[in-house]
Amino acid sequence: MSFDYDVIVVGGRVAGASTAMLLAQHGHRVLIVERSSMPSDTVSTHAILRTGVLQLTRWGVIDRLIDAGTPPVRDITLGFGDERIEFQVRNEHGIDTFYGPRRYILDAVLFDAAREAGSDVQVQTAMKDLLRQRNGRVQGIQVMNGRSTDVITARYVIGADGYHSRVADLAGSAIRRSHPATNAINYAYYEEIDAPGFWFQFTPDVNTGLIPTNNSQCLVFAGRPVELRERFSADPDGEFMRLIEQGGVDLAERVRPGKRVGRFHGTNGLAGFIRQAWGPGWVLVGDAGYTKDPISAHGISDALRDAELCARAVDKALRNPEEEAKALDWYETLRDGLSGRLFEESEALARFEWSPEEASARMRVISDEVRAECETLFSLPDWAPALVRA
Ligand SMILES: Cc1cc2nc3c(=O)[nH]c(=O)nc-3n(C[C@H](O)[C@H](O)[C@H](O)COP(=O)(O)OP(=O)(O)OC[C@H]3O[C@@H](n4cnc5c(N)ncnc54)[C@H](O)[C@@H]3O)c2cc1C
Repeated sequence: MSFDYDVIVVGGRVAGASTAMLLAQHGHRVLIVERSSMPSDTVSTHAILRTGVLQLTRWGVIDRLIDAGTPPVRDITLGFGDERIEFQVRNEHGIDTFYGPRRYILDAVLFDAAREAGSDVQVQTAMKDLLRQRNGRVQGIQVMNGRSTDVITARYVIGADGYHSRVADLAGSAIRRSHPATNAINYAYYEEIDAPGFWFQFTPDVNTGLIPTNNSQCLVFAGRPVELRERFSADPDGEFMRLIEQGGVDLAERVRPGKRVGRFHGTNGLAGFIRQAWGPGWVLVGDAGYTKDPISAHGISDALRDAELCARAVDKALRNPEEEAKALDWYETLRDGLSGRLFEESEALARFEWSPEEASARMRVISDEVRAECETLFSLPDWAPALVRA
């Protein structure tokens, strides 16, 4: 059978665009199908920590974020109750700077890079269903284009369609681990805040902080146990400032002179899961296959990490179909091995059942896991882009 594409990637943000870019660079015929328009925003704060910056640097796209005016972040404040730990980003794995780009910039940079690598793209196009062969193997998708339904075939469909992944549901991907939604988050953008860098504050019953971002603005966020979320709708500005003050008087002093730009965004809590990563003809990457509470600010970084692991595995399976199971099991095992502790520690922090000392210990574990993650990425064998199509 001949296929329209080697790979269809459903979802074109951090996970999908990166996976598509890497596969196209390695000579495969790739289509991205994205429901929204690009560039566009999405509900997410956007601190990118070491693993994510490492990937963006290795792929040669970090300069595009810098050119878009994304401020470099070298100073980090971690607050645990009344204790403050202030430090500069250590130079490890060649990375000494973090970034907090707006998602409409980050996602568009990766989307453009995927297109430049040769991916075809269809935006404002929603995947509706999976196509299957008689034996059940996935072999493409149905999409809604305005009022008409089109059929597009491919050897693999990659679900990079986020938290509510339709690809995962239709494929029947099993949920292997899960955690409940416990952390309700709100955030807004402010002008005229003097932010020293990233500030992540853990005070009993509240997680607050600052993420300097594009347009000389600063994202201010506040998370608290879901049971307390109702208070927000009655008096958003008042309740937001109360949460910031509860986090710390010094943080509140930084935020108070700020002028809010635009509305509050947020979530009423995000349940976490780790799903089966692949089956015949389909693979999941990013939040579609593995979502954890955002309190560890690591979803984007993990999506960028797994985009490469996923693309390497699919590249192998496309070149050697008899090695499909070996290649995709490698991806799933590595993803799960690197994600387990991050998942557990994020869940534990998001439950708000810690003392400041315990929160500090959990953040140290996360930091060790990130180091291991970077080392794993560095130890991967060379994988040079193809000069000709596979
Ligand atoms: C409140 C909040 C704060 C966060 N803060 C941080 C942070 O500070 N740092 C961090 O690293 N992470 C953070 N995260 C996590 C981060 O946002 C996610 O991990 C990341 O967006 C995952 O990227 P993704 O590409 O897998 O999915 P997404 O970014 O969700 O992209 C999925 C894409 O798929 C498209 N799509 C969905 N269904 C279809 C369909 N049927 N057809 C076609 N397209 C479809 C969607 O339109 C979307 O563009 C936060 C998340 C939240 C909710």
